[in-house]
Amino acid sequence: MTSAPVTDFPSAAAALAAAGRDLHGRGWLPATSGNLSLRLDAGGCAITASGRDKGRLTQADMLRVDLDGVPQGPGRPSAETLLHTGLYRWSEAIGAVLHTHGPATTVLGLRLTGRDRLELAGYELLKAFAGVQTHDTRIVFPIFDNTQDIAALAEEVTAVLEGLPTPCYGYLIRGHGTYVWGRDLEEAMRHLEALEYLAGCELALR
Ligand SMILES: [Zn+2]
Repeated sequence: MTSAPVTDFPSAAAALAAAGRDLHGRGWLPATSGNLSLRLDAGGCAITASGRDKGRLTQADMLRVDLDGVPQGPGRPSAETLLHTGLYRWSEAIGAVLHTHGPATTVLGLRLTGRDRLELAGYELLKAFAGVQTHDTRIVFPIFDNTQDIAALAEEVTAVLEGLPTPCYGYLIRGHGTYVWGRDLEEAMRHLEALEYLAGCELALR
Protein backbone atom coordinates (compact mmCIF):
# COMPACT_ATOMS: atom_id res chain seq x y z
CA MET A 1 0.00 0.00 0.00
CA THR A 2 1.61 3.25 -1.13
CA SER A 3 1.23 6.56 0.65
CA ALA A 4 -1.29 9.07 -0.65
CA PRO A 5 -0.04 12.09 -2.61
CA VAL A 6 0.07 15.26 -0.53
CA THR A 7 -0.19 18.95 -1.31
CA ASP A 8 0.45 22.38 0.22
CA PHE A 9 -2.21 24.28 2.18
CA PRO A 10 -3.14 26.96 -0.43
CA SER A 11 -3.60 24.34 -3.16
CA ALA A 12 -5.60 22.09 -0.83
CA ALA A 13 -7.82 24.98 0.31
CA ALA A 14 -8.59 25.99 -3.27
CA ALA A 15 -9.38 22.40 -4.29
CA LEU A 16 -11.63 21.82 -1.27
CA ALA A 17 -13.53 25.07 -1.86
CA ALA A 18 -14.24 24.03 -5.47
CA ALA A 19 -15.30 20.52 -4.37
CA GLY A 20 -17.59 21.98 -1.71
CA ARG A 21 -19.35 24.23 -4.21
CA ASP A 22 -19.76 21.25 -6.57
CA LEU A 23 -21.21 18.95 -3.89
CA HIS A 24 -23.46 21.69 -2.50
CA GLY A 25 -24.84 22.14 -6.00
CA ARG A 26 -25.81 18.47 -6.05
CA GLY A 27 -27.73 18.88 -2.78
CA TRP A 28 -25.32 16.73 -0.76
CA LEU A 29 -24.11 19.49 1.59
CA PRO A 30 -27.31 21.32 2.58
CA ALA A 31 -27.63 24.02 5.25
CA THR A 32 -23.88 24.27 6.13
CA SER A 33 -23.67 20.50 6.81
CA GLY A 34 -20.79 18.18 5.98
CA ASN A 35 -17.04 18.70 5.85
CA LEU A 36 -14.21 17.99 3.44
CA SER A 37 -10.48 17.49 4.03
CA LEU A 38 -7.17 16.84 2.25
CA ARG A 39 -3.91 15.49 3.68
CA LEU A 40 -1.07 18.07 3.66
CA ASP A 41 2.59 17.70 2.78
CA ALA A 42 3.53 19.50 6.01
CA GLY A 43 1.57 16.93 8.08
CA GLY A 44 -2.01 17.10 9.27
CA CYS A 45 -4.81 18.08 6.92
CA ALA A 46 -6.73 21.03 5.51
CA ILE A 47 -10.41 20.91 6.48
CA THR A 48 -13.52 23.06 6.11
CA ALA A 49 -14.18 25.32 9.09
CA SER A 50 -17.32 24.77 11.15
CA GLY A 51 -20.68 26.09 10.03
CA ARG A 52 -19.81 27.49 6.59
CA ASP A 53 -22.21 27.57 3.65
CA LYS A 54 -20.66 24.94 1.35
CA GLY A 55 -22.12 26.64 -1.72
CA ARG A 56 -20.05 29.77 -1.07
CA LEU A 57 -16.74 28.31 0.08
CA THR A 58 -13.50 30.18 -0.50
CA GLN A 59 -9.96 29.36 0.60
CA ALA A 60 -10.58 31.51 3.70
CA ASP A 61 -13.11 28.91 4.91
CA MET A 62 -10.42 26.23 5.36
CA LEU A 63 -8.14 25.63 8.29
CA ARG A 64 -5.25 23.39 9.14
CA VAL A 65 -5.39 20.76 11.91
CA ASP A 66 -2.91 18.13 13.04
CA LEU A 67 -3.86 14.46 13.01
CA ASP A 68 -5.22 14.77 16.56
CA GLY A 69 -7.68 17.37 15.25
CA VAL A 70 -5.93 20.31 16.99
CA PRO A 71 -6.09 23.59 14.97
CA GLN A 72 -2.71 24.85 13.73
CA GLY A 73 -3.88 28.47 13.40
CA PRO A 74 -7.00 30.63 13.82
CA GLY A 75 -10.49 29.24 13.25
CA ARG A 76 -12.75 26.56 14.72
CA PRO A 77 -12.66 23.14 13.09
CA SER A 78 -15.82 21.13 12.52
CA ALA A 79 -17.10 18.97 15.38
CA GLU A 80 -16.60 15.99 13.08
CA THR A 81 -12.89 16.68 12.49
CA LEU A 82 -11.85 13.62 14.54
CA LEU A 83 -13.60 11.35 12.02
CA HIS A 84 -11.35 12.78 9.30
CA THR A 85 -8.10 12.69 11.26
CA GLY A 86 -8.85 9.18 12.55
CA LEU A 87 -8.99 7.94 8.95
CA TYR A 88 -5.69 9.65 8.03
CA ARG A 89 -4.06 8.07 11.08
CA TRP A 90 -5.54 4.67 10.22
CA SER A 91 -4.13 4.54 6.66
CA GLU A 92 -1.35 6.48 4.96
CA ALA A 93 -2.99 5.54 1.64
CA ILE A 94 -5.88 7.94 2.40
CA GLY A 95 -5.29 11.44 1.01
CA ALA A 96 -8.83 12.89 0.94
CA VAL A 97 -11.96 12.45 3.09
CA LEU A 98 -15.44 13.70 2.17
CA HIS A 99 -18.37 13.81 4.59
CA THR A 100 -21.71 14.60 2.96
CA HIS A 101 -25.43 14.50 3.81
CA GLY A 102 -26.70 13.20 0.48
CA PRO A 103 -30.33 12.04 0.53
CA ALA A 104 -29.81 8.45 -0.69
CA THR A 105 -27.03 7.53 1.77
CA THR A 106 -28.88 9.32 4.60
CA VAL A 107 -32.15 7.45 4.02
CA LEU A 108 -30.66 4.05 3.14
CA GLY A 109 -29.01 3.86 6.58
CA LEU A 110 -32.45 4.33 8.15
CA ARG A 111 -34.03 1.76 5.83
CA LEU A 112 -31.41 -0.78 6.92
CA THR A 113 -32.43 -0.56 10.58
CA GLY A 114 -30.61 -3.08 12.74
CA ARG A 115 -28.03 -3.84 10.03
CA ASP A 116 -24.38 -2.96 10.59
CA ARG A 117 -23.34 -3.06 6.93
CA LEU A 118 -24.44 -2.33 3.39
CA GLU A 119 -23.25 -4.92 0.87
CA LEU A 120 -23.20 -3.91 -2.78
CA ALA A 121 -22.82 -6.59 -5.46
CA GLY A 122 -23.49 -7.04 -9.17
CA TYR A 123 -23.53 -3.36 -10.16
CA GLU A 124 -21.43 -2.27 -13.15
CA LEU A 125 -20.69 0.98 -11.30
CA LEU A 126 -18.74 -0.93 -8.62
CA LYS A 127 -15.86 -0.51 -11.07
CA ALA A 128 -15.76 3.16 -10.00
CA PHE A 129 -14.10 2.03 -6.75
CA ALA A 130 -10.29 1.90 -6.89
CA GLY A 131 -8.91 -1.51 -7.83
CA VAL A 132 -12.28 -3.06 -8.75
CA GLN A 133 -12.22 -4.61 -12.25
CA THR A 134 -15.60 -6.33 -12.49
CA HIS A 135 -19.25 -6.04 -11.46
CA ASP A 136 -18.89 -9.61 -10.15
CA THR A 137 -17.68 -8.56 -6.73
CA ARG A 138 -19.00 -7.55 -3.32
CA ILE A 139 -18.07 -4.35 -1.47
CA VAL A 140 -18.95 -3.75 2.18
CA PHE A 141 -19.79 -0.33 3.62
CA PRO A 142 -20.18 -0.42 7.42
CA ILE A 143 -23.22 1.36 8.91
CA PHE A 144 -22.98 3.14 12.27
CA ASP A 145 -25.77 4.56 14.40
CA ASN A 146 -25.78 8.33 14.57
CA THR A 147 -24.28 9.89 17.71
CA GLN A 148 -23.00 13.23 18.99
CA ASP A 149 -20.06 11.47 20.71
CA ILE A 150 -17.64 11.92 17.82
CA ALA A 151 -14.55 10.72 19.71
CA ALA A 152 -16.23 7.40 20.55
CA LEU A 153 -17.49 6.99 16.97
CA ALA A 154 -14.00 7.64 15.59
CA GLU A 155 -12.64 4.79 17.72
CA GLU A 156 -15.49 2.48 16.73
CA VAL A 157 -14.90 3.24 13.03
CA THR A 158 -11.23 2.31 13.22
CA ALA A 159 -11.99 -0.92 15.06
CA VAL A 160 -14.57 -1.97 12.45
CA LEU A 161 -12.31 -1.05 9.51
CA GLU A 162 -9.49 -3.13 11.00
CA GLY A 163 -11.78 -6.17 11.01
CA LEU A 164 -12.91 -5.96 7.37
CA PRO A 165 -11.45 -8.62 5.05
CA THR A 166 -11.70 -6.49 1.89
CA PRO A 167 -10.77 -2.91 0.92
CA CYS A 168 -13.20 -0.31 2.23
CA TYR A 169 -14.06 3.01 0.59
CA GLY A 170 -16.50 4.55 3.02
CA TYR A 171 -19.27 4.06 5.59
CA LEU A 172 -22.80 5.26 6.33
CA ILE A 173 -24.12 6.96 9.45
CA ARG A 174 -27.82 6.18 9.89
CA GLY A 175 -30.06 9.17 9.22
CA HIS A 176 -26.99 11.39 8.85
CA GLY A 177 -24.98 10.72 5.69
CA THR A 178 -21.72 9.16 4.61
CA TYR A 179 -17.95 9.32 4.93
CA VAL A 180 -15.99 8.40 1.80
CA TRP A 181 -12.27 8.55 1.11
CA GLY A 182 -9.65 8.09 -1.61
CA ARG A 183 -5.97 8.47 -2.40
CA ASP A 184 -6.64 12.00 -3.63
CA LEU A 185 -9.59 14.36 -4.03
CA GLU A 186 -10.45 13.13 -7.53
CA GLU A 187 -10.65 9.51 -6.39
CA ALA A 188 -12.67 10.40 -3.27
CA MET A 189 -15.13 12.42 -5.41
CA ARG A 190 -15.55 9.43 -7.77
CA HIS A 191 -16.14 7.08 -4.82
CA LEU A 192 -18.70 9.48 -3.34
CA GLU A 193 -20.58 9.89 -6.61
CA ALA A 194 -20.68 6.11 -7.07
CA LEU A 195 -21.83 5.41 -3.51
CA GLU A 196 -24.58 8.05 -3.54
CA TYR A 197 -25.82 6.70 -6.90
CA LEU A 198 -25.72 3.06 -5.77
CA ALA A 199 -27.45 3.95 -2.48
CA GLY A 200 -30.25 5.39 -4.63
CA CYS A 201 -30.38 2.13 -6.60
CA GLU A 202 -30.64 0.13 -3.36
CA LEU A 203 -33.53 2.34 -2.18
CA ALA A 204 -35.29 1.80 -5.51
CA LEU A 205 -34.83 -1.97 -5.13
CA ARG A 206 -36.33 -1.99 -1.64
ZN1 LIG B 1 -22.51 15.41 9.30
